[in-house]
Amino acid sequence: MTPVRRQILVQGIVQGVGFRPFVYRTAVRNGLVGSVRNLGDAGVEIIVEGTPEQIARFLEELQARKPPLAEIEALRVADLPRDGKLSAFKIERSQAGEGSSGTIPPDTAICDGCVEDIRNRSRYHGYWATSCTDCGPRFTTIRSLPYDRERTSFAEFPMCPACAKEYTDSLDRRYHAQTIACPSCGPRLYFNGSPEGDPIAKAAEALKAGRIVAIKGLGGTHLACDATSEEVVLRLRARLGRPQQPFALMATEGQLQQLAEPSPEEWRLLRSPRRPIVVLNKRPASPLAPSVAPGLHNVGVMLPYTGLHYLLFEHLDFPLVMTSANMPGRPMLIENGEIEERLEGIADDFLLHDREIVARCDDSVLRHSLGWRFIRRSRGWVPTPLELDLGEEPILALGAELNNTFALYLDRKCYLSQHIGHVDDLETFQFLREAIAHLLAITGAKLPRVLACDLHPRFLTTRLAEELGERVIRVQHHHAHIAAVLGEHGLERAVGLALDGVGYGTDGRIWGGEVLIAERADFRRVGGLRSAPMPGGDLATRFPARMAAGFLFAAGLRGAKLEQALGDHLLPHFRSLRELELVKRQLEAGLNVFQTSSAGRFLDAVSVLLGVCSERTCEGEPAMKLEAAAREGRPIELELPFAVEEGRPVLDTPALFLRLLELKGRHSPADLAATAQWALAAGLARLAIRAARESGLEEVALAGGVAYNEAITSVIKAEVERAGLKLYLNEKVPCGDGGISFGQAVVAGTRLRLGWA
Ligand code: ZN
Ligand code: ZN
Ligand code: FE
Repeated sequence: MTPVRRQILVQGIVQGVGFRPFVYRTAVRNGLVGSVRNLGDAGVEIIVEGTPEQIARFLEELQARKPPLAEIEALRVADLPRDGKLSAFKIERSQAGEGSSGTIPPDTAICDGCVEDIRNRSRYHGYWATSCTDCGPRFTTIRSLPYDRERTSFAEFPMCPACAKEYTDSLDRRYHAQTIACPSCGPRLYFNGSPEGDPIAKAAEALKAGRIVAIKGLGGTHLACDATSEEVVLRLRARLGRPQQPFALMATEGQLQQLAEPSPEEWRLLRSPRRPIVVLNKRPASPLAPSVAPGLHNVGVMLPYTGLHYLLFEHLDFPLVMTSANMPGRPMLIENGEIEERLEGIADDFLLHDREIVARCDDSVLRHSLGWRFIRRSRGWVPTPLELDLGEEPILALGAELNNTFALYLDRKCYLSQHIGHVDDLETFQFLREAIAHLLAITGAKLPRVLACDLHPRFLTTRLAEELGERVIRVQHHHAHIAAVLGEHGLERAVGLALDGVGYGTDGRIWGGEVLIAERADFRRVGGLRSAPMPGGDLATRFPARMAAGFLFAAGLRGAKLEQALGDHLLPHFRSLRELELVKRQLEAGLNVFQTSSAGRFLDAVSVLLGVCSERTCEGEPAMKLEAAAREGRPIELELPFAVEEGRPVLDTPALFLRLLELKGRHSPADLAATAQWALAAGLARLAIRAARESGLEEVALAGGVAYNEAITSVIKAEVERAGLKLYLNEKVPCGDGGISFGQAVVAGTRLRLGWA
């Protein structure tokens, strides 16, 4: 049969994911000649010559057996004339510019082939750092472009002859695998400083004995311990000084089935090569220690994602707590000396390796709640850019303060950084600077002239923007939240519902329950939650009984009435009678009192009123526990109170709060918790619908940390859709403050294009 020649253009995620070597192997296996080359942003071009049957089989395998991270979005086949002779299949040298935008892949979980290599009698048997072109560290090991071994932290490990042979064998799975390494040439593991014996087996013994082990991984360090032992988990909590913050777990599939019942969709993400932490509903009778996620109905779990994890679990029949080795919001420890020093007295043992972590990258966290929501977008995704067209001018957006990320807009792509943390201290600030330098290095970009940041004058991110930017564009926090939704969904404008804990308003007040008419460049605040005083400022966030007092005061309670309500319902939640009296005086004198329209503070206050949570020891704690408490409850029917504030319609949260207090004794806490969530959601939805009617908009964008609450989001969605409108949420960036930088970039880019700002 006469051979034919065809051109195949493949578009999608086909660069930096081992696609070309895969094409090569598939072509050779099918007896084809021709070539494959990168076309930069245009994808990959393949030219093949062979019989139509061979080519058909090749095309089939191309789609069926593609590398785990590759995604084929479009595949076009065209006939070519047979001009000139093709002798063998080759991988063409890359075009200029290749290795620039978009080609640095994220860290990827160990692939099935490598797991087999570790388990079978291959030369990788038992080797914890086994990887190939389909898997292993990338973002966390690459220093600069182009992506070659000498510019990664594997440079210190010269390949042995056996590795070099595979590396140069174009038919091998490890052909040009920059992170190829084996027991004789690659990074080594140390248990408490010693490489002797089997460090993984020793670590497993320690874990079985109830010890806490620091384990250095791909992009950071975990503290691990037996998640089924209450005593051990409590010991870890005591040593970390984290009484309540939920711990993430790592479990094998078998163990996971005992903890939770993931849906098919959740399983798919759990098993995907990105291997994130997925927040799952706990099984009622699970072997988990109660202290793993106290007071919550769900728990974050991930499957093993490196060779080390697989080997470790061969020795263990219980799931592990795997929590980042850092103080909350602070950078994870990545340097061996520092790990040993800073974790002294916290970890009993250390399982460390000698491969340097170039860039820190925390585990990603997602939750399925009306679709996937990123709680944290980090390992497995970063630095994969998001499509976004804001024109020519590059922009660096530095985000807000808590749970921060930054975003680099470059050439129709937006690179959202890894999770940076709370940029309110110098250590995290330093990490922010390093992470910016690293992202610029691996995208080959210069520092943009335009920087975007928050309106808050005292954020370190704002100061850094002023320091670095020739031009600084400041973006209001809740506008950024909504702009992130607009940017993701390609919308120009929408009614925005921005619901969170705190964001600096244009009036210098603390916003957090806002209805906006938002365009990409600008917004109007058209409604939201009625303001309530926060006695003692930040103290009212930490001790929600203060906030509850603020709501009662705003509802009109004064003097003896206020005192009685506080005494009857909230006394045990104040630290002392003195504090209660002080708060009352502060409210009545208006001293050290700040106004807030925060949705988070309302949920906190309800949480303490119902006795669910009286101190916030970790982020979102009162509201998360309220959500858990509301699961068994049903909303009580009540009329939603509305008011007008500064000419805007607002949900009267103080009146609502007072109503809940009056209903207290007559209904279960679960029903009241469900009622509070329903009323907040329904009230805000009605305001959003009204704003949509008045402005003629049909799109409603919901963002902010409160959007993680499944009950609230469901009610808003149902109400909005019943009114014939469409609800949009963040799907690709976090709806919490981790998505702020992306929204800032959207606003800044649009303002530049419009020629203002
Ligand atoms: Zn692999
Ligand atoms: Zn080797
Ligand atoms: Fe926020």
